[in-house]
Amino acid sequence: MKLNMSAVDPVRYTLETRFKFRCHKGISCFTRCCSNIDIMLTPYDIIVMKERLGLTSTEFLERYTYTTIDEKTSHPFVFLRMLDDKERRCPFVTEEGCSIYDSRPVNCRYYPVGQGVIKSLRGEKIVAEDFYFFLREGHCKGFEEDQEWTIKEWRTDQGIDIYDELNMQWRVIQLRKNPPGHVLESKKQALYYMACYDMDRFRRFIFESGFLEYFEIPGDRAGKIENDEIELMKFGFDLAKYILMIEETLKPRTA
Ligand code: SF4
Ligand code: SF4
Repeated sequence: MKLNMSAVDPVRYTLETRFKFRCHKGISCFTRCCSNIDIMLTPYDIIVMKERLGLTSTEFLERYTYTTIDEKTSHPFVFLRMLDDKERRCPFVTEEGCSIYDSRPVNCRYYPVGQGVIKSLRGEKIVAEDFYFFLREGHCKGFEEDQEWTIKEWRTDQGIDIYDELNMQWRVIQLRKNPPGHVLESKKQALYYMACYDMDRFRRFIFESGFLEYFEIPGDRAGKIENDEIELMKFGFDLAKYILMIEETLKPRTA
């Protein structure tokens, strides 16, 4: 999500932090948060949403998203494209609420909590450590309600845990910075994007191009990747790490 920085409460919170909040259909601001907003999509969001809409990943990305490239990391960020109307409404908002509620993106699930990540060392391994903050936007009346949660309880209630678990390695990749004066070359950039977001095209790339002549996929992993989109996504993260020289995740067949 591109943040409305004026609404960010600039304090780092933990999973045990308590807050009062309730969002429901009877509240005066119902669906106000679904307009004039930039929602960043994660790889797992795209799998869930395109399945829900009966689209291929390529169709979904073309129809509903736009991409920006972060200059410092070369990381491609995919955003939900809002309607071209005065309010910049989300294409999925209706008077009844979110029309894809069960498949809504993880950033919509988190709201009004925001999630950040910092790099830390665990032994010799770089890991991503999460922290949380609040978005207190003037129009959001949910903070005036009486229901109390910890951030951990909120995450569980909103079905967030599976999203964070499956997107974790993608978030680790974002922590890598370009070497000074370098950006990722365009072919690698395109491959990085496909491997993280466009699963239908990525599957064809692996199994219908010469990819397997150049890279070994050990054991039964190739079969799993071909038949299971989550395994394919995890393989995409491995390929992204290889392209970005974060980790030797793949084994070339020849030097
Ligand atoms: S996806 Fe659903 S919850 Fe998220 S902004 Fe759109 S309508 Fe609102
Ligand atoms: S309470 Fe906040 S999150 Fe709920 S509909 Fe209103 S603005 Fe959106």
